[in-house]
Amino acid sequence: MNQNLIPAAEAIYKLIQELNKLPGIGPKSAQRLTYYLLRAPEEQAKLLAEAILSVKQKTRLCSTCFNITEADPCLICRSDHRDRSKICIVEQPQDILALEHTRIYHGLYHVLHGAISPTEGVGADDIRIKELMNRLQGSSVEEVILATNPNLEGEQTAMYLNKLISPLGIRVTRLARGLPFGTELEYADDVTLTRAIEGRQEF
Ligand SMILES: [Zn+2]
Repeated sequence: MNQNLIPAAEAIYKLIQELNKLPGIGPKSAQRLTYYLLRAPEEQAKLLAEAILSVKQKTRLCSTCFNITEADPCLICRSDHRDRSKICIVEQPQDILALEHTRIYHGLYHVLHGAISPTEGVGADDIRIKELMNRLQGSSVEEVILATNPNLEGEQTAMYLNKLISPLGIRVTRLARGLPFGTELEYADDVTLTRAIEGRQEF
């Protein structure tokens, strides 16, 4: 953005620039949000700023499933209402939100924090696979659902995990193919995602 073209206060440029760094926020949206916040009550701006800081300061990873949480273990790992015989493997914490939204799955989760991608230099040791295998050893888990993204990296990761987990005598399933290839789980709609969970297949 060429600052010389927009006659505005330094503070305004700064906020536009920061918002522009966010995913899905182009320069136009960043400008619109900045001027919206400028007109909004100070209290609203303060709440937003505090909310942003507290996601950084008050959250950590669950030491069991690696979901983002305020308390360790997280609410899902601690709950008495979850089916402990199933673990659903996802790439990112926001995938849990998408799956929980369908209300059809009541098992546990494990967040890998990435996917195997040789082209980007991400190997099996760079994501939470070792922690998953430790968790599965000697556990009462009967089924592992591979819910990695339906794209190249997600498929590679699912294949790799299947090879590791199958020998443990645990049933390994993969989300049904209703999900369009190349997409990411967090953007799938509820209906598609529900079908994908219900129609999961033996890997
Ligand atoms: Zn957890």
